[in-house]
Amino acid sequence: MFENLSERLGGVFDRLTKQGALSEDDVKTALREVRVALLEADVSLPVARQFIKAVEKKATGAAVTKSVTPGQQVVKIVHDELIGVLRGEGEPGSLKIDSPPAPILMVGLQGGGKTTTTAKLAKRLKERDGKKVLMASLDVNRPAAMEQLAILGTQIGVDTLPIIKGEDPVAIAKRAKTQAGLGGYDVYMLDTAGRLSIDEELMAQVEAVRDVANPRETLLVVDGLTGQDAVHTAENFDERIGISGVVLTRMDGDGRGGAALSMRAVTGKPIKFVGLGEKMDALETFEPDRIAGRILG
Ligand code: GDP
Repeated sequence: MFENLSERLGGVFDRLTKQGALSEDDVKTALREVRVALLEADVSLPVARQFIKAVEKKATGAAVTKSVTPGQQVVKIVHDELIGVLRGEGEPGSLKIDSPPAPILMVGLQGGGKTTTTAKLAKRLKERDGKKVLMASLDVNRPAAMEQLAILGTQIGVDTLPIIKGEDPVAIAKRAKTQAGLGGYDVYMLDTAGRLSIDEELMAQVEAVRDVANPRETLLVVDGLTGQDAVHTAENFDERIGISGVVLTRMDGDGRGGAALSMRAVTGKPIKFVGLGEKMDALETFEPDRIAGRILG
């Protein structure tokens, strides 16, 4: 399928004489290969350029230790830089849910995996952190989505806010808050409506919900396989709603992870979790190492 970056660089450096430090030319030659690898991994062009510049600075003149080849040396510099960009602030996967009941707002486009991720995260909070969680669906235009969350709740043993027909999303958010307080819940999760694409109505609705809920975390759920579209979605949601983190779903697919790098570079927001399948356990803390390996091939 894809040529491994180490192999590519090995090939490049085989042709060069071994020297004590990486020369400017060596680095330039190697970085052309790195650039191709990044673009193949679906990293956006401006982000790839910016990344290459940073690596070039670090690599030029770097001493080559005897135990590694220049190719391996460049791969290591690239790898470390990738980890640096991918790693957000704070502990990976940490959430600000200290003062109960802490609201978590789940946002994203339809089909991105928002409802599934809401339930997966609720399960994780319950099982790993011993939290009492309440979930509420705000997707009033899609009764099936509201039903889906209720079904998942039963499956994982997490309460969902009873559905009242005709109630608007802001009213549901308020009821969830009251219920979470009265019921002694640690966390309440608001699964907002999704649309096929970003539109004013959706944004205005999510904004109104955000204003009443005052969420501790606003997590954007995006399909990691959609590459640059995922990055645009993140930019838009962050600008309008203000997100605190990202969950990349479908990372069990064969995407090469470039969206993760672009997303970090463009929004600066941490990727907190990755979705690795349809099952309720298929949610993991985001590990920069793994994605870096995937991008490098
Ligand atoms: P929503 O419209 O954003 O709420 O999306 P859903 O949660 O309904 O998910 C849409 C579809 O994607 C469902 O069939 C999910 O099972 C599936 N899905 C969600 N997350 C993942 C994931 O991480 N990997 C895979 N393979 N499928 C997922």
